[in-house]
Amino acid sequence: MLPAYDRFFSSTAKNIKASEIREILAIIRKRKDVISLAGGIPDPRTFPRDELAEIARRMIIEYGDQALQYSETKGILEVREMLSHFLLESRGISVDAENIIVTTGSQQALDLVARTLLDPGDIVITENPSYLAALGAFKNRGARLVGIKIDKQGMRTDLLEETVKKLVSEGEKIKFIYTIPVSQNPAGTTMPPDRKKHLIEIANKYDLLVVEDDPYSYFVYDETVDVSPIKAYDSEDRVLYMSTVSKILAPGLRIGWIASPEKLTRKLELVKQYMDLHSPTLNQYIVAEAIRTGLVTRHAHELSPFYKKKRDAMIKAIKDYFPENVWHTEPVGGFFVFVYVNKEGFDTGKLLRKAIDKYKVAYVPGQSFHTDGTGANSMRLSFSYPPPEIIEEGIRRIAELIKNEN
Ligand code: PMP
Repeated sequence: MLPAYDRFFSSTAKNIKASEIREILAIIRKRKDVISLAGGIPDPRTFPRDELAEIARRMIIEYGDQALQYSETKGILEVREMLSHFLLESRGISVDAENIIVTTGSQQALDLVARTLLDPGDIVITENPSYLAALGAFKNRGARLVGIKIDKQGMRTDLLEETVKKLVSEGEKIKFIYTIPVSQNPAGTTMPPDRKKHLIEIANKYDLLVVEDDPYSYFVYDETVDVSPIKAYDSEDRVLYMSTVSKILAPGLRIGWIASPEKLTRKLELVKQYMDLHSPTLNQYIVAEAIRTGLVTRHAHELSPFYKKKRDAMIKAIKDYFPENVWHTEPVGGFFVFVYVNKEGFDTGKLLRKAIDKYKVAYVPGQSFHTDGTGANSMRLSFSYPPPEIIEEGIRRIAELIKNEN
């Protein structure tokens, strides 16, 4: 007799739901006639294959004894030193190598922070909408999510202050504010400096931590826009800053990092130890060498005009084809445009199958990015993968869907 396996699942596993995005991607991968604006993955044509192959070979041959070996949980010291230089140079963040933790992508950084800081019932404040896999990592620890409305400039920090004040007065325990200030996923918004400063002031006033997730700011499409990190305004060491090479080199390397407040580093390190002992040693060597030789900076520079063409194609098509009743963001970087359709009963989740089968286009329904069940009339559109002319056609098809259905 086979066991009734459900009986063995942990409550965390029982509560986990399948990711909507992954399921959609699985369906449309097989459908060549469908234009996908759903998955937000980098265009593989950007991967610097030859340079990475040369570096990988050299690291194995010259440093094989260490590069193929187990290593320190926090990350190899030379790699953390390289990241410390890189953060100062590229983002103006001053952090000692001792307070950098190399992680297995920034997804692990999110999970690690959640495991280190959250107990069931704790409140995490996020943008509404916010990054799905971050919300999942927090929910897995039993956190309660409170979302703050966004406008075209990201999180409304006036509402953040009101919300924090109210929750604190009710005796609630808020652990941290999770934010993606630049080129947000899914919204594509970027916070101006006055909002970033306001956010830090609120954290200082109410004694909260800030988790700043920053994968997209290493290249942007409008050079005049201020994309400084919140960490740059962090006078009380409250910000855990995290980033990754996923968008500036290759996500398959699975290398990210946390710049941690000094007093938190040791705990994060101890918690990570039981997750994976350490992040892949060879990949750490490859990333450090890619930074040292200037490949990362050069590459990020080249990505900007490449993705700008795609962003421009999407925004132009939206302006050309979408009807008046659509609210959309205008990203200065990243991979996403977020859309709300102001039409009675318009439900992007319910319409997705029809979008794929009849209109031959796919998007990610927006509701699951929201913390409060709202957003049924929203969708995330990604311009990272298809070429500009396909993006335009995809938007034209979505415009048809919006006009014809409800
Ligand atoms: N945070 C945000 C906001 C992201 O968009 C992503 C990737 N889609 C991640 C974290 C995870 O990145 P990584 O590949 O480094 O795990």
